[in-house]
Amino acid sequence: MNAKIIDGNKIAEKIKQKIKTELEKLKAKLVLVAVQVGENPASKVYVKNQKSSCEEVGVIYNLVQLAENISEDSLISEVKKLGQNEKITGIILQMPLPPSINSRKIQMSIPEEKDVEGVTPANLGKLLYSDVQPVVAPCTALSVMECIKSTGENIKGKEAVIVGHSEIVGKPVMLMLLSSLLESATPTVCHIATKDLAGHTKRAELLIVAVGQAGLIKGNMLKEGAIVIDVGINRVGNKICGDVDFDEAIKVAGYITPVPGGVGAVTTAMLLKNLLGLYKTRIA
Ligand code: NDP
Repeated sequence: MNAKIIDGNKIAEKIKQKIKTELEKLKAKLVLVAVQVGENPASKVYVKNQKSSCEEVGVIYNLVQLAENISEDSLISEVKKLGQNEKITGIILQMPLPPSINSRKIQMSIPEEKDVEGVTPANLGKLLYSDVQPVVAPCTALSVMECIKSTGENIKGKEAVIVGHSEIVGKPVMLMLLSSLLESATPTVCHIATKDLAGHTKRAELLIVAVGQAGLIKGNMLKEGAIVIDVGINRVGNKICGDVDFDEAIKVAGYITPVPGGVGAVTTAMLLKNLLGLYKTRIA
């Protein structure tokens, strides 16, 4: 039997509708500012998606476009200035930044109360506390958790395997899976040095793949009935695909996220949820 498809668009619509209703009730004017340095085709797509999602729920979206040759110090002072602006609810730093700029330094200059992507050390650090519910967290990791939740399956004690350990996906997902020991899965994190990747993926009841390598995970690397969350976004020819070989995996998995239309579709909705969280914390 074919796997059930986890429909990211449907999940995102539900979340956005809820946010819209809450914003109308609060009569709140939220402002999201995106900082983009130079021109980058990939980040242009993100900007377009962010803008239209903001408009859908009634959030004001402003793009601050800075010159490609801006110095690191000037960029830091621009971001700090935005951070001090009372009218701004959240700040996004569009990636990638030019190679001459240390993106970590720039991220760290965003005040934690405006860190809508949940990437500052203060906000990432809160993920370690099991008794604290962080206001914001990395949006893609939150999206992964929403996709898992949408299956209605109980993950308590399940073998969970995460492939990829980046700061915005693999590592936060691992911490989120452990956030309540009473409901938690049992995560294993695989990376480039993992010796027998298939050995791990084959025993995964819950598999999360965030690598950026088309077709890395084949059907014969999956456990029958597994929940497969494919975070990867790869361009192959003129097609977008994930890290999991979808046509093979759908015959083995129990649930699977498509690419596009899976995790990526939910990510922007989680950005808006983070923004609302920042706003509510400020007015509390
Ligand atoms: P990174 O490049 O930061 O991380 C990739 C991870 O994969 C690294 O931890 C790396 O390990 C690991 N890795 C690389 N090759 C292998 C391998 N053969 N076996 C096991 N692990 C391996 O990427 P991101 O986390 O930023 O993104 C991952 C993918 O997710 C990309 O395709 C990206 O486009 C997509 N993405 C999708 C989003 C969405 O909303 N859907 C949002 C963000 C990203 P090591 O560090 O040890 O080399």
